[in-house]
Amino acid sequence: MTPLEEEIRALIAAEGPIPVSRYMALCLAHPVHGYYLTRDPLGAKGDFTTAPEISQMFGELLGLWSAAVWQSMHAPQTVRLVELGPGRGTLMADALRAGRIVPGFTDAVDVHLVETSPVLRRKQEEALRPSGARVTWHARIEDVPAGPSIILANEFFDALPIAQFVRAANGWHERKVGIGPDGALAFGVDPISSPMASAFARHIPPPYKPGAVLEHLESGAMEALAGRLAAGEGAALIIDYGHMRSGLGDTLQALSAHRFADPLAQPGEADLTAHVDFAALARSATRAGARAFGPLTQGDFLERLGLSARADRLKFNATVDQKEAVDVAHRRLAGTADGEMGTLFKVLCLTSTAFVSPPGFDPSEAFSESP
Ligand code: SAH
Repeated sequence: MTPLEEEIRALIAAEGPIPVSRYMALCLAHPVHGYYLTRDPLGAKGDFTTAPEISQMFGELLGLWSAAVWQSMHAPQTVRLVELGPGRGTLMADALRAGRIVPGFTDAVDVHLVETSPVLRRKQEEALRPSGARVTWHARIEDVPAGPSIILANEFFDALPIAQFVRAANGWHERKVGIGPDGALAFGVDPISSPMASAFARHIPPPYKPGAVLEHLESGAMEALAGRLAAGEGAALIIDYGHMRSGLGDTLQALSAHRFADPLAQPGEADLTAHVDFAALARSATRAGARAFGPLTQGDFLERLGLSARADRLKFNATVDQKEAVDVAHRRLAGTADGEMGTLFKVLCLTSTAFVSPPGFDPSEAFSESP
């Protein structure tokens, strides 16, 4: 039994079953035993691999996108380049390097990283030291100082706790974690239905079949991000795996050593995530006063930014093996086959009201609920 499971059992013994959102928050962010606070989960030896770890092209293209946003804001003297959940700092290091080709951009950039993990903060510091950039760390987006900003978030929102509700004849009941008949941690539901859940479900057309699962992001991170864009100038890119439209379904999943695992089996030792509901994020953002564009698929977005041209450039003068590696990375980032990220991952852009369309998006791609 993991040390965190002992704590969770004590909590359940004292208070009864705990909501899925609380379970997820404890597993990921418990100050002593939380998954992200105790390790670097990324890479071949870790539990999962992300786009910036697959290829330098990902961070480079996002760096060029950021520089283009800065130019379309009329090149302010200082711009906050903010990253939420920067992992090993690879994306930011690649972005800063690529951004150097745009005159004045590097000098204007002030890097702000929102990161809770001390282990990953150290890795980010190491990765960014050669860039010479000014870097400041924060625990929450609300703590990043005001001012024109460009915000990047890759695989950040999927790591934020969600609440789950299960449909019964008389309404939605919050899903909870308690102790099952065999003494192991087990899912159950609150006997009393949740009136709030009916409001969360209003964007999903009925019928709601008994047993259907509704998910709701608990974190206020999107409201904070959009509020910042509504109050000042800037743009944000949210990249994650998830769905374009709100729907029903249990997407809570655990990953351990690159394999799916039982979310209740190893609390604090496996990564826990949920698919991102992009339509719900876009709705919260527009309600908070920001504009939303997309979502586009990651494959389409990266190709618009010039992924193929960048790959060709890298293959120029490369060895046969290096060329093959570039092609493999290109397919993993933008391909549509099983295990490739091109359509599984989506890109949502949020902007302050001044933007008619941000780089990589067409004005006609402003977010709207209708198909
Ligand atoms: N963006 C990186 C890492 C993704 S993993 C990449 O693409 O490789 C998720 C990241 O979010 C990690 O850096 C993790 O420590 C951070 N994180 C998770 N929950 C967080 C929270 N509530 N606040 C700030 N950072 C968080």
